[in-house]
Amino acid sequence: MVNLEPEAMQTGWRGRAAALSWDGRPLIGGTRREGTGAMAIWSPVHGGLLYEAALCSADMVDQAVVDAHRACERGVWSDLSPRARGMILLRLAELIVENHEELALRDTLEMGKPIASALVDIRDLAPTLCRHYAEAADKIYGDVAGSDAASLAFSLREPRGVVAAIAPWNYPLPNAVIKVMPALAVGNCVVLKPSELTPGSALRLGELALEAGVPPGVLNVIPGDGVTTGAALARHPLVDMVTFTGSTQAGRAIMATASQSRIRPVILECGGKSPQIVFADAPASDLVAPRILGEAFANQGQLCVARSRLLVHASRKADLMAALEREVRQYAVGDPLEPATTFGPLAGQRQCERVLGHIAGALRDGARMVAGGPVDRPCGVAPTILDDVSQGMAIVRDEVFGPVLTVQSFESTEEAIGLANGSSYGLAATVWTAHYPTAQTLVRRLKTGHVTVNGTVESYEGPGMSLAGEPRGDSGFGSETGLDSLRSYTAIKGVVLAGGPCRSADR
Ligand code: NAD
Repeated sequence: MVNLEPEAMQTGWRGRAAALSWDGRPLIGGTRREGTGAMAIWSPVHGGLLYEAALCSADMVDQAVVDAHRACERGVWSDLSPRARGMILLRLAELIVENHEELALRDTLEMGKPIASALVDIRDLAPTLCRHYAEAADKIYGDVAGSDAASLAFSLREPRGVVAAIAPWNYPLPNAVIKVMPALAVGNCVVLKPSELTPGSALRLGELALEAGVPPGVLNVIPGDGVTTGAALARHPLVDMVTFTGSTQAGRAIMATASQSRIRPVILECGGKSPQIVFADAPASDLVAPRILGEAFANQGQLCVARSRLLVHASRKADLMAALEREVRQYAVGDPLEPATTFGPLAGQRQCERVLGHIAGALRDGARMVAGGPVDRPCGVAPTILDDVSQGMAIVRDEVFGPVLTVQSFESTEEAIGLANGSSYGLAATVWTAHYPTAQTLVRRLKTGHVTVNGTVESYEGPGMSLAGEPRGDSGFGSETGLDSLRSYTAIKGVVLAGGPCRSADR
C-alpha cells in the first residue's frame, strides 16, 4: 500500500486535477512549436475532454528529426563525457521525483490508473529506471583485441545518431523513460512519439530534461497518432534507429516502414500472453492467490508482462480457485482519483469495448466466468477470471491487454511446459514450486525473455533492474534493461592502429 504525502491527502486529487493546465504542443529544438493538427485527449476518469494535443504532421516530424540530426552533427550531447551525460540524467531523475505528484496525476487523468499506483510509477519506478541508465552511462565501452606487436586493434562503441522512440499508453512516463534514457545515456539524440492517448507526461519529461541540462534538440517530443506521426517518424531517412513498444500488429507495420527509406536497426517490444504455472508443491493457496491476481491484474491487466494464463496442477485447482475467488473480492474497483481505489477504469471506451468483446467471445466459446465482467462506471471492467477454457480458444491464444485471467489445469510437468509454450508470444513467465529441479527445468525450457520463480514483478524490479531479457516470438526482440539495452543503442566500430614495427631492426 502506498503512503500518500499528507499534502496530497489534504488537497484532494479531484481539486488538483481541475487546476492542472495542459500544453499539448510538440517540443522541438528546446521550444514548444505551433502550427499542426489537433488531437482530442479524453479522460477515462470522467469520460470528458481533457485538452487538445497536437497531431504532428509529416512536416512537423521532419522538423523534429532535422533538429535532432543537427544536434547529433554538432556533438552537443555525444561529445560530452559519459560521466557528464550520466550526471545530467541523474539530475533528471531527481526532477521527476520533485514533480512526481503532477506527473502521476497527468498519467491517471489520461489513462485511468489509480492515483496510488501512478504515484508509485512516477516516484519510484521511473526515477529508478532513469538512475539505472544514468549510472550505466560510463560503463559501456569497447574491447581491445589481441593483435600482433605492430598494431593495436580495438572496438569503439559509438552512438547510433537519431533514435526514433515510439511508446504505448499503459505506463506513460515509465515507458517513455525506458525508451529515452538508454539512448540518451550513450550519446544519441531522440525524437519521442508518445501514445495518442497519453502525451501529457512525456511532453513534461522533455521540459524537465531541458531543465536538467540536456541541450535543446537532444530530446524532442512529438504528440500524434500512429498512422500519421508514428509512420512518418519510422520512415524518416535521417532516423538512424527505431525503438518501439506497443502491439505486435503495429510492430509488424513499423518494421516494414522503418526499412522503406533506408536500412536501420529496430527494437520491438510487443505484446504478450504470459503464463504463471502453479505446481502441486507451490506455497499455500492463500499465500499465492493474491500474487497470482497481482500478476494478472496490475494496471487493470494492461501490462505487457501480465501473467494472464494461469496453469495449475490438477491436484491444486479446487483449493486455489477457492482462494482466488476470495481474493478477487478484495479489489477496490472505483474512482482512480480516490487514494483507496486499487482498480480503476480501462484506458478508454474503445479499450473497454475491446476487452468486453474478448470476454463475450470466450463465454460464447464455452468459458465460465468465475468473477468479473462489466462494471457500471466509465470504461469499467472488473478483474475477470475465466475457467473451463482450452488451449485452442481465442481467449487463451490472443492478447487481451485487460483484466482477464484464464485458468487451465495440467497433470504433468511436460504438459505444463507444452501449454506454457503453446503461444505465439514469448515475453515472460512465473513458476510457483518448492522443487528446485522443477524450477530449473522450467527456466531452461520456457520460451520467454523473463522467468520469475516464486516471485512477482516487484521481486524482479528490485534486484533485477539490471537484468536484460529479450522477448521471443511475436513479443519482439531487443532488450529494455541492463547494460545490453544501452549497448543496443550503440554501433561498434572496429579500429586497427597499424603503427608499423615496434622494435628497431638492430635488436
Ligand atoms: P499500439 O501498438 O496501438 O501503439 C503503440 C505506439 O505505436 C503508439 O504510440 C502508436 O501511436 C504507435 N503506432 C501505432 N501504429 C503505428 C504505425 N503503423 N506506425 C508507427 N507508429 C504506430 O499499442 P498500445 O495500444 O499503445 O499499447 C498496447 C500494446 O503495447 C500491447 O500489445 C502491449 O502488450 C504492448 N506493450 C508491450 C510492452 C513490452 O515491453 N513488450 C510494454 C508495454 C506495452
